Amino acid sequence: MFENLSERLSGVFDRLTKQGALSEDDVATALREVRVALLEADVSLPVARDFVKAVQDKATGQAVTKSVTPGQQVVKIVHDALIDVLRGEGDPGHLKIDNPPAPILMVGLQGSGKTTTTAKLAKRMKDREGKRVLMASLDTNRPAAMEQLAILGAQIGVDTLPIVKGEDPVAIAKRAKTQASLGGYDVYMLDTAGRLHIDQELIAQAAAVRDVANPRETLLVVDGLTGQDAVNVATEFDDKIGVTGVVLTRMDGDGRGGAALSMRAVTGKPIRFVGLGEKMDAIETFEPERIAGRILGMGDIVALVEKAQETIEAEQAEKMMKRMMKGQFNMNDLRMQLEQMQKMGGMEGMMSMMPGMGKMAKQVEEAGFDDKILARQIALIQSMTKKERAAPQILQASRKKRIAAGAGMDVSDLNKLLKMHRQMGDMMKKMGKMGKGGMLKQAMK
Ligand code: GDP
Repeated sequence: MFENLSERLSGVFDRLTKQGALSEDDVATALREVRVALLEADVSLPVARDFVKAVQDKATGQAVTKSVTPGQQVVKIVHDALIDVLRGEGDPGHLKIDNPPAPILMVGLQGSGKTTTTAKLAKRMKDREGKRVLMASLDTNRPAAMEQLAILGAQIGVDTLPIVKGEDPVAIAKRAKTQASLGGYDVYMLDTAGRLHIDQELIAQAAAVRDVANPRETLLVVDGLTGQDAVNVATEFDDKIGVTGVVLTRMDGDGRGGAALSMRAVTGKPIRFVGLGEKMDAIETFEPERIAGRILGMGDIVALVEKAQETIEAEQAEKMMKRMMKGQFNMNDLRMQLEQMQKMGGMEGMMSMMPGMGKMAKQVEEAGFDDKILARQIALIQSMTKKERAAPQILQASRKKRIAAGAGMDVSDLNKLLKMHRQMGDMMKKMGKMGKGGMLKQAMK
């Protein structure tokens, strides 16, 4: 059994008292454990090494959030960094299939789940986007593979190119293209032959097919359980054929997902889908969060991270209050606060984090505050110059007009915002003078 990373880290950090910031030693100790966990999750050594180094730079000196342990903090940093590496650009589930008929080339080793994935994706395009898909098996070495695709096609209601004995893969690809054009298909998928290992012939064949089909997408199917080998396979295919994305299969098994990280880090190719079983619906768009949680070996990572996040936000709110009470309150502060309020579920959400603030919320609302127009108020502040933000009292009527127009609002809206700013500033100053006890008493009257 793998030891849970969070357990491991809490062991390391139990001995440490809570400090203001993560020290270099804390981080180094924790990251040694992280590295072991990565290797156990089948991440390749060079990738684990680079990753840990990058995280080390990021983590050292970071403030430790109240109410999480330094260990949890490191886990969060690692988790976020994993997601950063794993996330590709754009929507992984979006296949380029405009301009019909769009060719999709499927490549991969034998047994990786290539044929199954071809059918799963065909079904997905048919069901979700109403596409007409034609599938063709180019696996001339294994007649059983060609029949398998035909059977799957019949099962999911997707057409397959009729099998012609003795035809070579390039000829099949050409026939698929013609058939797809004549038959009015949106997409045609070419399921190439696989071998147990990569060899020259396999690559040469896939390259020849690629050259006649000119595929819009070339998807490499890789068995997610194969770990480090998967990286070599991906590198080879990408170098020789050029792939536009990876599909990781068997992610329903107990593999730990490290292949995903290695593959992404080494090839830079986005992971597009994950296979989650043998059934035709068992395919999902790749979600980096899931794999990150899996690599860390923590089912509850998301909850933990969210909790940490909440705490960070509550702390930010507290800091913000302190600044306000010192009377440091210009339009930049107001803007930051409006943005934070937006994030925290509006004024109500923010006030609810602070004891005794219920009554305050009402006052603020009466001063012209409305959660719905937060975004527009932020836009108003954005239209001001730096000088104006620092000292809004300098605003003349003509500037007010232009600012309001720039944000697509009326001068009266801007005046409301300015009034709110003044009132909040006054209120905060008063509260600051009263001190915390006074403020609570006042609020509870
Ligand atoms: P190919 O040789 O690459 O075409 O592989 P196949 O598509 O024939 O798949 C080999 C086996 O793996 C079949 O029994 C599939 O049902 C199974 N398989 C494919 N994808 C998955 C997956 O995501 N999860 C699981 N558990 N099995 C899968």
